[in-house]
Amino acid sequence: MTRVPVRDDLRALEGYHSPQVKVSVRLNTNESPFPPPPAWRDAFAAELSRVDWQRYPDRGATALREGIAAMHGVRPEQVFAANGSNEVLQTLLLTSAGPGRTVATFEPTYQMHGQIARVTGATVVEGERAPDFTLDMAEVERVLREATPSVTFLCSPNNPTGLVEPESNIREVLAIVPGLLVVDEAYSQFAEWSALGLVDEETPLVVTRTFSKTWSMAAARLGYVIGPEWLVAELDKVVLPYHLDVAKQIAGRLALTFVEEMESRVQLIVSERERLSAEMAAMPIDVFPSGANFILFRPSRHSGREVWQGLLDRDVLVRDCSGWPRLENCLRVTVGTPEENDMFLSALAEVTR
Ligand code: PMP
Repeated sequence: MTRVPVRDDLRALEGYHSPQVKVSVRLNTNESPFPPPPAWRDAFAAELSRVDWQRYPDRGATALREGIAAMHGVRPEQVFAANGSNEVLQTLLLTSAGPGRTVATFEPTYQMHGQIARVTGATVVEGERAPDFTLDMAEVERVLREATPSVTFLCSPNNPTGLVEPESNIREVLAIVPGLLVVDEAYSQFAEWSALGLVDEETPLVVTRTFSKTWSMAAARLGYVIGPEWLVAELDKVVLPYHLDVAKQIAGRLALTFVEEMESRVQLIVSERERLSAEMAAMPIDVFPSGANFILFRPSRHSGREVWQGLLDRDVLVRDCSGWPRLENCLRVTVGTPEENDMFLSALAEVTR
């Protein structure tokens, strides 16, 4: 059979890869190390057994949106939910970017911002961060002035660096941004500050969140954005009808009744992150400050690849970022359970000795 040609601009794109290897200690994809609470499982199973499967789900995901809105103190009309925050990002980009428009990222950052933007047909302009991975405001100003992007991405805490964007930076960018500013807050519950409070009808700002990390629900694929009502109404037009299946709507709505459990897990992960950072800093390793559930680090005596392999030989998998642009020799570890973290630390001490 003859292969029909795909879009010319897609040929140069590589897919997103996160290699999976069978190991005992898996600390490579920033998931929660804890399963959801047993009471959530029971409530979910009970509701699933009562679903009218012959019917389409609530297209507007009304109850879910109301629950998310109540949690954040915003109106349900300011909330749009989709299949993971990746689909939220895709819908934002289909709505505000696309062919003939430009999207700005500040690298290194979450690879999917540029990847999804390119798939929608937009041109991506990559600004540079300072060597310590903080935002360089002069560079931001240059990129926004020269490229006039329709969508500008920031990520706070930034994946893969872990850095939290200070409020002053977000405010400075908002003052000069020519289009929409998307602040990706997939990890924000682990940080002390969120841009959510800056969202209103007059500001070109949206904040994206996910159930994949703090809510221990990566398997459910559920994320959302909080933004101005006028933009959320556009997103509802662009997304496919009934994109959120009934099971996901139930899963998300019920999760919102377990806020306390979620918060105590977040506290445990934050204290484990601080313990890991302190112990790693005592090894021959540069450790980047993190406000997320992962830590970026750079061994100083060995190559990143050697350390990654050494950890794998000891049954511990971390993310190898050492071949990524601007992240030479860097590895990223997700904070696990206290036991997993102990295993990681003793393996790391052996490998970097
Ligand atoms: N944004 C960032 C910064 C992420 O790291 C991730 C997950 N790797 C996502 C968005 C996507 O998360 P999900 O689609 O699972 O909600």
